[in-house]
Amino acid sequence: MRRIVLLGLVLSAATSLACGGAPEGPRPNVILISADTLRADHVGANGYHRTTSPTIDALAARGVNFTNAYSHAPNTAPSHTSILTSLYPSVHGVFQHGQEPDEKLVTLPEALRGAGYQTGAFTQLNGKTFEPGFDTWYYIDSALQSGKGLGDLDMVTDWVGERTAPWFVFLHSYDVHLPYAPEADYVDMWADDYEGPLRPNVTRALVDSINDGSLEVTERDLQFILDMYDAELRRLDDIYSRLFAKLEAMGELDNTIIVFLSDHGEEFGEHGKWGRHTYALHEELLRVPLIVAGPGVPQGQTIDAAVRLVDVAPTILDLVGVGYPQYFMGEGLSGVWDGTERTPRQVIVERQTERALIHAGFKYTTDGELFDLTTDKWGTVNIARDNPDVVSRMSDALLDWTGRFAELAAVVRTDGEIHLTAEEERRLRALGYLQ
Ligand SMILES: [Zn+2]
Repeated sequence: MRRIVLLGLVLSAATSLACGGAPEGPRPNVILISADTLRADHVGANGYHRTTSPTIDALAARGVNFTNAYSHAPNTAPSHTSILTSLYPSVHGVFQHGQEPDEKLVTLPEALRGAGYQTGAFTQLNGKTFEPGFDTWYYIDSALQSGKGLGDLDMVTDWVGERTAPWFVFLHSYDVHLPYAPEADYVDMWADDYEGPLRPNVTRALVDSINDGSLEVTERDLQFILDMYDAELRRLDDIYSRLFAKLEAMGELDNTIIVFLSDHGEEFGEHGKWGRHTYALHEELLRVPLIVAGPGVPQGQTIDAAVRLVDVAPTILDLVGVGYPQYFMGEGLSGVWDGTERTPRQVIVERQTERALIHAGFKYTTDGELFDLTTDKWGTVNIARDNPDVVSRMSDALLDWTGRFAELAAVVRTDGEIHLTAEEERRLRALGYLQ
């Protein structure tokens, strides 16, 4: 078995807690909302041309809207695990449904519960991956709901009404995930004239037949896919509107931090496929909305600097004054919104041994591709050959991250091993990360 050499100072205090500054008065409640599969650019507050998200836009107006936020993986299980553990996928080791994070890891709800919070998850996520730290785990069986998704959220407001301490709600649903099948009122918002072959609903089978070329489609058919995705988002936004109105009527919103995000995006033709994620590290699969609002957060700020979903847990814990392990790989976002932090954050995205580093407008992948995201938003033109210096610098930086992942995984996980290519293992060994 190979031995991991522990180099980083960060590991020496892996189990100690950083100190949070306690806010005055009762600790705020927290709602963390994940709209699974929601692309950043379909949200009105991010400049979308349709009124897909008035409630989300209003939330952005009373908080900070990060227009350049990245998920760390293009699929549900690793991304949510990164949100809840503040670790990159290689470090927490969850890459697909059915895998569970090591029980040594401290999750966001565990940290909050340790500080006296009552914690409830209301979600369509299945399995034990995300359960540690939640007092209540309410699985939303879509068959029981009106439509396919959340319907009315009485189970959330009922639970909140019964709390006797500060509470943390994690709310997640697949409303904007395939199939795109909103109720008729929502279909009619943007597609009442459509009579083509994708009616009535956009299903997985239909997009698969478009992607493999067995179904020929027109521009209008492809537009219908967007119409239906947007209709699902508007339907979900209306559900949030009803939830927020109920919480407000209960007097529960004033002292509540709301974080809104998604776990990954969805492809709509940018790299030739429709209705797909998981399969690549393309920008459209990783750029997600991220809004933070509530006590301690400035109002009405829009921030274009790149930020990361691993930053979410430390941001929440900083805001409520609860400590967390020093091995958390994210950093609280207050330094970004108060202007004291000026150095661009490095973003790592992962699929097993496939990784990319996004930094200062460039994206470099383990396939040796380089993209200038300032002029090529979706990363479709590989400019590696003409920019050997940038490639060399980013390749070294990415390898350094991989070495840090290997070190940290050895400390925080019982199995301790991360996915490396033979070449990465050789280079990391040469650098002294591995023996
Ligand atoms: Zn997902």
